[in-house]
Amino acid sequence: PEDIRVYEFAEKINRPISDVIKVLFSLGLMMTKNDFLGSDEIEILSEEFGVEVTIVDPKDAFNYEEDMAETIDENATKRPPVITIMGHVDHGKTSLLDAIRKAKVTEDEAGGITQHIGAYTIEQHGEAITFIDTPGHAAFSQMRQRGTDVTDIIVIVVAADDGVKPQTDEVIKLAKESEAPVIVALNKMDKESANPDMVKGQMAERGLNPVDWGGDIEFIPVSAKTGMGIDDLLENILLTAEVLELKANENAMAKAAVVESSLEKGRGAVATVIVQNGTLKVGDYVVCGSAYGRIKALIDENKKQIKSLKPSHTAVVVGLNEVPSSGEIMMAMKSDKEAKEYAQKRHEYDRNKELSHSTKSTLEDMTSMI
Ligand code: GDP
Ligand code: MG
Repeated sequence: PEDIRVYEFAEKINRPISDVIKVLFSLGLMMTKNDFLGSDEIEILSEEFGVEVTIVDPKDAFNYEEDMAETIDENATKRPPVITIMGHVDHGKTSLLDAIRKAKVTEDEAGGITQHIGAYTIEQHGEAITFIDTPGHAAFSQMRQRGTDVTDIIVIVVAADDGVKPQTDEVIKLAKESEAPVIVALNKMDKESANPDMVKGQMAERGLNPVDWGGDIEFIPVSAKTGMGIDDLLENILLTAEVLELKANENAMAKAAVVESSLEKGRGAVATVIVQNGTLKVGDYVVCGSAYGRIKALIDENKKQIKSLKPSHTAVVVGLNEVPSSGEIMMAMKSDKEAKEYAQKRHEYDRNKELSHSTKSTLEDMTSMI
């Protein structure tokens, strides 16, 4: 609400700016055309001018969240779980992600060159599981801040020879906030010095009680080095997913979350996405924050071009006019025109946000000078 300026309000109600300033003045408010209006002021002005004002959170205005929520339930079918692996540095996140991937690539894929794209999907006994493969929990926090939390289950990796460390605590905090179910992978079990009971004790102190101690958190001993326990971990992920009854509607307009993005030579702006709902197809018009375009290609982690992407699956999207931020939502649109319009709206919103920030900071600078 405080994102609307006096002149914007005047434009919206089709009145001269001077009229609005006069009314504000009569109310004892000295404002210029570039000042921001608070919700109280907007309310008073609306009454004065006899207009009805609905205050819309600009975020809602261009991400159809609510429309989507309805479509999700009606014709939704089971979708695979999306997993984020988090843990203290050097406890084995990257190794574990690599071990899972290596253990599960099919033969024809093994011949191909896999590339790092920020996420990948494997199959365990015919059931898909998608792993977000971005370094650290920075990406996770970023996505959560943007409300595009695609993670269904969090795997916290703790090196069994090292135990809970500062970043483990951070991750536990994040996990609790997100309310996603947690599975603990006790890694480096191949090491002599591995002490799983020590880790269980430390985690129990933090409210994560192991199932074998009467709690509800699965602790799976694994070794990213030898591959031990990887199957167990995957089985547990599938069991946890089963309970969550994860669903999406494959036939809805596609909605996907950006996990990673970059500018690539020859390809332009590319974004790795995970589909949250609907099916993303080559040829779709999409908007993604202030970026938009028509999907030219969808490329999976084996560099294979695919035609379409179903819920919880991941690929690199080629065809955007600019690089979107990670955590941004990609939405399929009915037409090029619609996509452009939404991108435009978002540009304006972002610009206003920036202006509002810069105004606020100058105000702060001024008061700090006094
Ligand atoms: P990250 O920082 O959490 O991504 O940790 P890395 O995957 O980079 O692993 C850190 C170090 O631990 C590397 O030297 C790995 O080789 C080693 N490491 C990872 N997993 C295991 C394991 O299961 N057993 C042993 N012995 N070493 C491991
Ligand atoms: Mg790593």
